[in-house]
Amino acid sequence: MSAQILDGKQLAAALREEIRRDVEELRAKRGIVPGLAVLLVGDDPASQSYVRGKQKASTEVGIHSVVERLPADLSEQTLLERIDHYNEDPSIHGILVQLPLPPQIAEDRVITRISPGKDVDGFHPWNVGRLYSGGEGFVPCTPAGILEMIRRNRIEIAGAHAVVVGRSGIVGKPVAQLLLRENATVTICHSKTKDLGFYTKQADILVAAVGRPGLITADMIKPGAVVIDVGINRVDGRLVGDVDFEAVKERAGWITPVPGGVGPMTITMLLYNTLWSAKRMGNVQ
Ligand code: NDP
Repeated sequence: MSAQILDGKQLAAALREEIRRDVEELRAKRGIVPGLAVLLVGDDPASQSYVRGKQKASTEVGIHSVVERLPADLSEQTLLERIDHYNEDPSIHGILVQLPLPPQIAEDRVITRISPGKDVDGFHPWNVGRLYSGGEGFVPCTPAGILEMIRRNRIEIAGAHAVVVGRSGIVGKPVAQLLLRENATVTICHSKTKDLGFYTKQADILVAAVGRPGLITADMIKPGAVVIDVGINRVDGRLVGDVDFEAVKERAGWITPVPGGVGPMTITMLLYNTLWSAKRMGNVQ
């Protein structure tokens, strides 16, 4: 039997409608309009496209978004000053610096300059620490979207063996931590893992976050497993994930398509984090 599709596009649309209603209520009851500042340095086409997507999605749910486009030769000091400006601005509840940055700017100094309370990407060490130590904080958007997708489809996490392939700071590690927090038994694999299939075959929940098309093949899947494909790869002008979708869907129980799986959930969680930040600053529960 073919796997059930984890439809990120449909779920993202439903969540955005919930967020839109919450934004409207916050505005009507408290006069607070959630504000998001996006800083884009340089003219990388992929970054420009991501930023346009974020701006459009924000506007659609009623979030006030400010996009600041800055030249590629910008000094680090000027960028830090712009961040300070938005840190101080009470109408801004979320600040995001689109990565990657040009080589003259140190990413870690930029990320740590953002106020942890406005760090809607969840990359500031304070928020990273909160994810590991427990307690409130911003969770990075892609991992948060993956968890939301699993939960909303009523897939049991507690007690499951979750295998995460990839250990980046923006996807692999935080998603592993979130799954652990939900009481999965978690294995993390990476480029030095010997015999990847040995681990993936044990996975009740498999998350592939690598960036290699076709890495995960059907023989590496436990029958009935939940397969979450985070990878985005361009092959012959087409977007594909890390999972051999056509073959794996005949063995898995659930599977995310690419595109239309994890991708649409990522921006949705950015909107969610911005709304949450505005509610928190306005002391609204
Ligand atoms: P990184 O390149 O930062 O990390 C890739 C990870 O994969 C590393 O931990 C690396 O191991 C591991 N890896 C590489 N080759 C292998 C292999 N052969 N076997 C096992 N593990 C391997 O990528 P990101 O985490 O940033 O992104 C991963 C993918 O997800 C990309 O395709 C990216 O485009 C996509 N992505 C999608 C998003 C979405 O919204 N859908 C959002 C963010 C990313 P090691 O640490 O040892 O080098």
